[in-house]
Amino acid sequence: MRYSQILLPTLKENPAEAEVVSHRLMLRAGFIRKLSSGIYTYLPFGLAAIRKVERIVREEMNRAGAQELAMPMVQPADLWIETGRYEKYGPELLRFKDRHDRESCLGPTHEEVITDLVRREIHSYRELPVNLYQIQTKFRDEIRPRFGLMRGREFLMKDAYSFDVSDEMAEISYRKMYEAYKRIFTRCGLDFRAVEADSGTIGGSFSHEFMVLAKTGEDTIVVCTNCDYAANMEKAAVRPPEGPAAVEMLTMSKVETPGKRKVEAVCEFLNIPPSGLVKTMVYIADGKPVAVLVRGDRDVQEVKLKNLLGAADVVLAEDKQVFDATGVPTGYLGPVGITIRVVADREVAAMRNFAAGANEKNYHLINVNMDRDFAVEAVADLRKITPDDPCPCCNGRLALTEGIEVGHVFKLGTKYSESMRAVFQDSDGQEKPFVMGCYGIGITRVAAAAIEQNHDQNGIIFPLPLAPYQAIILNLDMKDAALSAAAEDLYTKLQALGVETLLDDRDERPGSKFKDADLLGIPFRIMIGKRFSKDGVIEVRRRRDGVTEEMSLESLPGILQARISDEISGY
Ligand code: ATP
Ligand code: MG
Repeated sequence: MRYSQILLPTLKENPAEAEVVSHRLMLRAGFIRKLSSGIYTYLPFGLAAIRKVERIVREEMNRAGAQELAMPMVQPADLWIETGRYEKYGPELLRFKDRHDRESCLGPTHEEVITDLVRREIHSYRELPVNLYQIQTKFRDEIRPRFGLMRGREFLMKDAYSFDVSDEMAEISYRKMYEAYKRIFTRCGLDFRAVEADSGTIGGSFSHEFMVLAKTGEDTIVVCTNCDYAANMEKAAVRPPEGPAAVEMLTMSKVETPGKRKVEAVCEFLNIPPSGLVKTMVYIADGKPVAVLVRGDRDVQEVKLKNLLGAADVVLAEDKQVFDATGVPTGYLGPVGITIRVVADREVAAMRNFAAGANEKNYHLINVNMDRDFAVEAVADLRKITPDDPCPCCNGRLALTEGIEVGHVFKLGTKYSESMRAVFQDSDGQEKPFVMGCYGIGITRVAAAAIEQNHDQNGIIFPLPLAPYQAIILNLDMKDAALSAAAEDLYTKLQALGVETLLDDRDERPGSKFKDADLLGIPFRIMIGKRFSKDGVIEVRRRRDGVTEEMSLESLPGILQARISDEISGY
């Protein structure tokens, strides 16, 4: 492609509305333009990068045996009513009526549509397993669309759905997708981790998120520095504590702690470390209060609490709610004699002679011990993991890092097939619901995540497999006929060899051509200028590290082609 002919409106200034790097650079590099909140036009260059992601995804899905189809974006509400999601999905689902007053919605995901298709078309175990996917525009009316393509309202997703005869077979389908995803993100040239994700009330470890490691990620992930363990912070299991310590239980007593309500203040006053105190936190779970006990220096992991209680909604109670439920002012609540449900983190069960609120203003208890002094409804892993915790798998050291969720694999079981009565006849003649899995990749988010992970102060540094063009030829003096002839010659030869090449044939100063080439992030920059006129030397500069090599007009196409195909096959 010739630069002079492509719609590539680069900006010199940083756009004010962009908060993250990928958004800023995609606007500056002329990849995207905003139409309205969370809705973008993909310009030719941006689309070229998106197509690269799509191609890799498509190849790997096909390799894994999945079949591509295309489902409608407009979906009848009736299907969503069948699964109960028409209400439950909430305001992210854009609902509307057509001219015949039929309720419809714009697809944020396609479980209902695919299950409807399969229940109509597949009837026998002989036709299974099957895995169907599409690459299509989704619409989610996100509460806070932001960061450009990272969290749009309209975005491109690859979504796949597997149908199997049994749980065991569904696990095989799940594994296949898990492996395909690893190949996809490796081939995209991204630094990523597959992490155990929270699978809500469904349970089990049959949900993994694929995270691109980048500082601007909205998720926190825990990775082991020693083994392969990685988990979403929400899910990361804490290793069970040693315990209880072989320490004699002392006599519990009440002490006055005037005005001391915060953990730090109480501990300082009692001259104990925060690890010697138990906090009593009140949550409202589906409208009902529940007290959660954790060590003074720990935080409750709300997702774990939600899963333990099987609650749809868990929020920290406000002071007034705590008082209404317990009659105790904030800061003095404790487990001894409390009147609401109580659950405890495992660590609390292993503690001896700890301090806790006395359920009376200005008083705390010391030498409290669980079981002897109070009972709880359940003991479970309820706290947030910290970087000081050992790895739950190997005892190694943990680190926290930020990630961008680019993909999600999920074993669904029979949730949808049962509610939609999607059944097949098994080999034993019995009618059974399909066992399903679903697998998503945010195509447009992958493109953005690649930029979050690969850039410098001058612009994008595309991983070679995702670059819209692999090489850019800069003709540094358009008025020099010999230079132009050489640039044209190179352009033709590189293209003939399959190297995706952009020819910067604009009548611009060299400085501004360099700047744009850096901004666009094209992996190889080929410079034809004075040194060519004088000595026949063409400089080839690698965007990633600035390493520059000198080549001749004759040798360049072959060398570059070999280098590019080497590098790409290395992923
Ligand atoms: P998130 O927690 O980021 O909202 P999600 O759990 O809602 O993601 P899924 O329903 O699993 O996402 O969708 C599959 C994939 O689609 C995600 O892994 C992500 O890459 C992508 N995706 C989801 N929402 C958006 C969005 N608003 N904009 C761009 N990509 C998205
Ligand atoms: Mg979401």
